[in-house]
Amino acid sequence: MTGLPPAPECSCAGAGAESDPPGPAQSFLSVLPAGAAPSVAPAPGRPPARLSVNDYVNGVRGGDRGILARAITLIESSSPEHQVRAQKVLQKLLPFTGRSRRLGITGVPGVGKSMLIEALGCALCGQGLRVAVLAVDPTSTRSGGSILGDKTRMEQLCRQPNAFIRPSPSGRTLGGVARKTRETMLLCEAAGFDVLIIETVGVGQSEVTVRSMVDFFLLLILPGAGDELQGIKKGIVEQADALLITKADGENRLRAEQARQEYAMALHYLPANTPGWTTPVSLSSAVTGEGIPEFWQTVLRFYGEFEPNGRIAARRSEQAIQWLHDRCARR
Ligand code: GDP
Repeated sequence: MTGLPPAPECSCAGAGAESDPPGPAQSFLSVLPAGAAPSVAPAPGRPPARLSVNDYVNGVRGGDRGILARAITLIESSSPEHQVRAQKVLQKLLPFTGRSRRLGITGVPGVGKSMLIEALGCALCGQGLRVAVLAVDPTSTRSGGSILGDKTRMEQLCRQPNAFIRPSPSGRTLGGVARKTRETMLLCEAAGFDVLIIETVGVGQSEVTVRSMVDFFLLLILPGAGDELQGIKKGIVEQADALLITKADGENRLRAEQARQEYAMALHYLPANTPGWTTPVSLSSAVTGEGIPEFWQTVLRFYGEFEPNGRIAARRSEQAIQWLHDRCARR
């Protein structure tokens, strides 16, 4: 037993040496006299058990997924000492943030979020893009579970060297989970990920929270679930930049097309979330792949229209100000 954290086997990143409460590695190191070296030297090529602020910064900037995972664990820790170090790491990384495309994806459990993210994520990695997937899951604060916690989800994406998947942090409140997710997003940006996908389940206020972190927000809709508008909270449709009717394959296809027409009709009467943008309603199937490349084209068109005119930068500034207000209000 070396006390070292296990090297990540895949990019489904769990807790590292900074787990809260401290793991055996930390309790072991904490009883060493100052300046004493651990009796077991780290194996060559493996990071030391305790990283300095600069180790984190350099590791994250160098795109080291193992160190990125540990930096996120540091941010998620509730230990005051870890929090101080986490803030120092973040401060140093802030100048390198802001260059990713930030997408949010929501929909009721079972709508097909993880299969869609897997298909989209693999396609983007295939184009040489680096993709990070994070989750905001208010249900995990109650059940201890997590929407990305199940290791069987996104198995193929997990194996992509260009992908990084992180389950929802645990926390007592959605605000706490959201803070950690937002800071994790900044770490991933500093690590050079081109695309960040923030997944959330359509419960509580989590969609609104995720909407306030991303540039582009996608709502997934299940076809043929009785009343087509059931399960979708009032207001969330208006906040979306695109709607995808999922599982548009096999016997479901007709129902999916009907749902598409109904939502397209409903959207005529709603104000656009992004002025100047018409929210498209399309079909998708993670089984046949239909609609997924087209969805990415929609995202690119969105950036093509709203990046040059500063609309995306303005949205990010508004979000940062709102975020600051929320944090101050919670103190
Ligand atoms: P999530 O809870 O929203 O992440 O949903 P999942 O991605 O886990 O999918 C829930 C269920 O729907 C699983 O049994 C999937 O196999 C199935 N599913 C997901 N996407 C599709 C699709 O495009 N077509 C079909 N036929 N089934 C799908």
